Amino acid sequence: MRASESEGWANPSSVHSLGRAARRRVEDVREQLARVLQVSARDVLFTSGATEANHLALAGAKVLVTSRIEHPSIVEQAEWLASRGTRVVFADITASGLVTADAVAAALDEALGVESAGSLETPGDSRTNENTPLVALMAANHETGVLQPLAEVAEVARRRGARLHVDAVQLLGRAPLGCLEVADSVSLSAHKFRGPKGVGALAFACGWTPLPQNRGGAQERGLRPGTLDVSAIVGLGAALGRLDESLSAYRRVAQLAQALERSLLTHSPHAVSIHGATVARLGHVVNFRVPGWRGDELVVALDLEGICVSSGSACSAGTAEPSTVIRAMEGQAAAEGAVRVSFGEESTSADLHAVLGALARLGILGPVEHFPGQLAPSIRELSQ
Ligand code: PLP
Repeated sequence: MRASESEGWANPSSVHSLGRAARRRVEDVREQLARVLQVSARDVLFTSGATEANHLALAGAKVLVTSRIEHPSIVEQAEWLASRGTRVVFADITASGLVTADAVAAALDEALGVESAGSLETPGDSRTNENTPLVALMAANHETGVLQPLAEVAEVARRRGARLHVDAVQLLGRAPLGCLEVADSVSLSAHKFRGPKGVGALAFACGWTPLPQNRGGAQERGLRPGTLDVSAIVGLGAALGRLDESLSAYRRVAQLAQALERSLLTHSPHAVSIHGATVARLGHVVNFRVPGWRGDELVVALDLEGICVSSGSACSAGTAEPSTVIRAMEGQAAAEGAVRVSFGEESTSADLHAVLGALARLGILGPVEHFPGQLAPSIRELSQ
């Protein structure tokens, strides 16, 4: 990024040699991202992040099926679109945080006004039509890490002539990307895989093109006008270049998260619940609740112990709202108790010990000396 600031500082839309040099840096990253997502470089648009990419994916949809556990950039945009006449149906969610293919099929049938499920066959090119129904579903949840059944959902979408947009923000660098093959469009954000903030992308692969949300420039084929931030895009490329490293780091920290989960389930005097415990999840995040504790209070108590976690809530005007994701899964009381511990690539067994110690001091885990017998060996293995 530093090199691109000194040597690639020109406007990448300028035709002079400095502009062309800047443009080359952008196009190299576009090709790199296209290879990662297995789409054509032409079908990759750089954006200011996933919020914008998600909005582009949803723009113009006349029929939209999504879920209440999506990121607010989808849920709130869907509500806004509904207020403007889009037919929006939110698919049911299981208590474990899954949006099943059956739930998507039922929601699509309701949105399309169809009585009997599975009776529609896809007309050959219907997915390129601007009236194409849209299903928007995330690959992995941002609060629970729950992985959605994209292949099955894609199948029911396809049978009803709908296209599938996947918010893959939480997947990159944390799980293999093979599940994205079935998506017609994918959004991502660089800062979630250790690139810079304020840059992301929308990639699409179905002959469909997004409806521009900005006007007044030819950049990004006129689909996303506005001067590109070359260094940010270069940073996105650098982060893409280390996705494999990130994957193996997350495989390691998954063991830390598992050890925390085991401790909460077996060494707490309280009946701790782990949200999404029964389904496939990203391994680095533990979202739980402890009877008798409000999530926001536990976040503050842990902060005073030097542990930074989240109550899984969006922070608006300085007040923490209970998690809408956990509320959609298990109701308001569960949402008010939800706390999310996320391990990062550099988290160590010492960090895990610090969390366990803090939870013990708060009385959420039994005294630490009661459980090193079971925990210590696994922690020792982890530090090797
Ligand atoms: N989608 C998901 C699943 C996210 O977790 C986020 C950010 O946290 C976004 C979209 C929005 O990304 P950005 O803030 O880069 O616009």
